[in-house]
Amino acid sequence: MVSTKDYEKVEWLVKEFLRVIGEDPEREGLRETPRRVSRMLLDELLIGYRYDPKEFLKLFEHEEEDYYEAYGDLVIVKDVAVRSLCEHHLLPFFGYAHIAYIPTKYILGLSKFSRIVNIFSRKLQVQERLTNQIADFIMEYVKAKGCLVVIEAIHTCALLRGVKENLKLITLSTRGVFSKDQRLRSEALSLMGIGKDLIRE
Ligand SMILES: [Zn+2]
Repeated sequence: MVSTKDYEKVEWLVKEFLRVIGEDPEREGLRETPRRVSRMLLDELLIGYRYDPKEFLKLFEHEEEDYYEAYGDLVIVKDVAVRSLCEHHLLPFFGYAHIAYIPTKYILGLSKFSRIVNIFSRKLQVQERLTNQIADFIMEYVKAKGCLVVIEAIHTCALLRGVKENLKLITLSTRGVFSKDQRLRSEALSLMGIGKDLIRE
């Protein structure tokens, strides 16, 4: 849990930072800023540090002993919002995650995908690691036969700094059968509507 001391420490640091850049933290417009920033960081943007995804994820048992054996089909969840902070610049990157997996005995409720993505993205991240962590977690926790995660995101550090371009970064992680089965991987990517250049090979 975050203690009152933690909030106060961050507030103090924001106040110091305002002084360093030549601002007066006591002036009208800034007086509440350190408090707002410390709440925003600890309670929203970086809240992922406080949760263990395993603690509140409920799994559903499928009536089939093994979904893959029974159907051999995949499940795809599209457009799960990603909101994260890049660890290199502490600036936001945001976009969408698309997740495909092949369940065995367990399936995940639809709302759980947002929770998984949130827990891993609401901390300091790089997009590549975030994509891997989501794929690894689903593989391990759901005991999936395979998992494929695509994240497409805009990085404000690229937008606001040197390059000043609206570049979209697309990352892909494949696990299990998706790593071996080219047809399956292409099927998932085309169902997700991801650009053809990702399907090539
Ligand atoms: Zn960055």
